[in-house]
Parts: sequence; structure tokens; C-alpha cells
Amino acid sequence: MSYLISDLISLIYPDVCTICSNALVQNERVICLTCLYDIPLTNYVSATNNEMIAQLYGVSPIKAALAYCHYSDTGMVKNAIHNLKYNNKHEVGTFLGRLLGQLVAKMPPLNSADILVPVPIHPKKLKLRGYNQSEFIAKGISEVTGIPVNNKLLTREIHSLSQTKKDQWERLGQQKDAYVLHEEEFCPGSILIVDDVMTTGGTLTACSKAFDNKDNVRLFAATVAFTLK
Ligand SMILES: [Zn+2]
Repeated sequence: MSYLISDLISLIYPDVCTICSNALVQNERVICLTCLYDIPLTNYVSATNNEMIAQLYGVSPIKAALAYCHYSDTGMVKNAIHNLKYNNKHEVGTFLGRLLGQLVAKMPPLNSADILVPVPIHPKKLKLRGYNQSEFIAKGISEVTGIPVNNKLLTREIHSLSQTKKDQWERLGQQKDAYVLHEEEFCPGSILIVDDVMTTGGTLTACSKAFDNKDNVRLFAATVAFTLK
């Protein structure tokens, strides 16, 4: 469904909260105040010393990270992320991105990042979904912090390998984790990688590998939600 059609539908039907589905009242947008109040916030006070960066430490060159809230399979944040990814609710991404952006804005060293880089999705998924949800989250962060978004620096590689080769890659854990850096878009500096949810940290780590042969790069990460182990 195009953005235009979804915008027209939201004019005809009143908006509902993306988490609890109750009708939104005046001044409420995307998530109702009751749900906003109940979201399990991470309340991180540092981007260099928290449970998220502890999980990335040693496996990834990412030096600082934060998430807006905690994620669980039964939790309320799951509804919002599901609607963002599968129900064409890209505005949920921008909304959550602004909330995440308020944290980024006051959290060094993330607030000194030069660019925001949304984690790219596979071209097949992009075609199916119509958009990359992380780009909308990055857009929300950018609105609050003024840090520009570069969605062309990284792309997800398309594999055209034989099944045998694919099996070998999957055994090595590399099949789904190939991101390509585009040299013509690259400038040295601090790069804040943006994603919807961090679970194992595998996606963020795979993205950071695209910068392996680059000097003068500092990598940070920000996600809407973090799955606490
Ligand atoms: Zn609600």
C-alpha cells in the first residue's frame, strides 16, 4: 500500500494506538499516553557502560550503544515493532525514532556522531515491505538531533550462491550477515548505526564488520529496543 493511500485511510478512520489499539484522543500520536507511560524504559545513564554495550564488547568494534526500551516477545513493545515492520506503519518508526533521539541528544559520545546509518534490509524484503523500518527510526532521531542520515553507505548484499555454498556460509554464520560499504559514500568520523531491536547483537556486529579496513572511524549503535537476556 502506498503512503498516499495509507494517509487517506487514516483521515477516514480515526487513529488507534499502535500498542493497545484504543482510539487516540486529541494530542496523542501513534502511541497513547497510557501505553507510553507503561513502556519498560532502559533508563541508561551511560552509553559506554550498560548491559547493551557489555554484550557487544569484545565481539564488535562498537564503542557506545543505547536503546530506548526493553523488548520481550510478550511485551507491549513487540506490538509497536510488529506494526512498524509488517503492517505498513512507518510512522511508528519516526515516532519511536524521535523518542530514541531525545536520549541520543543528551548522551555522549552518541550526540557527537557525524552521521546516522540505518541497518539496511535485504532487497527482497525491501521490495515486499516497501520501506526499510530502520530508515524511519533514523529519520526520527535526525529530526531531534540534527544529525544527518546516510542510507546509501551500507547495503545488504544479494547472494547468488549455489545451495552447497549457501550451506557452507550458513554453517559459518555468514549467510545472513553480509553488508557492503560503498566507498563513494564514506567519510571518516563517528557513525551511529540505527536498528529497531538488538537481540544477540549479531546484526550490529555484522554491520560493523563492513568498516573493518577503515581508519579514523568510531562506531556507535542506537536501537529502539533491547532484548534483555
Ligand atoms: Zn495504547
